[in-house]
Amino acid sequence: MRPRKIPLRKCVACQEMKPKKELIRVVRTPDEAVLIDLTGKKAGRGAYLCGQVDCFRLAKKSRALDRALKQTVGPEIYDQLAQDFIAVEDEFIAGKDEMDDDEEA
Ligand SMILES: [Zn+2]
Repeated sequence: MRPRKIPLRKCVACQEMKPKKELIRVVRTPDEAVLIDLTGKKAGRGAYLCGQVDCFRLAKKSRALDRALKQTVGPEIYDQLAQDFIAVEDEFIAGKDEMDDDEEA
């Protein structure tokens, strides 16, 4: 096995550094919507969270997303994100194994 450079990002909730693919990106789009970005390619300011609802809850409690995105994230947006987060969590965990081999350069 040869060593491979893995891009690390920090979870805004628990502050742990993790490989990007283990994190879910939340993006503030140029028109100020706050969305979950599973592709990691949407334009805008991004923040990363571990792919677990626990970290999302922590972020909500500490308002970490507000700080990371430099925008007030309203409770209704947090609620919407929470729903999306729960919806993608399983898919995200399932997809992770498959993605393991092709790290983008
Ligand atoms: Zn975390």
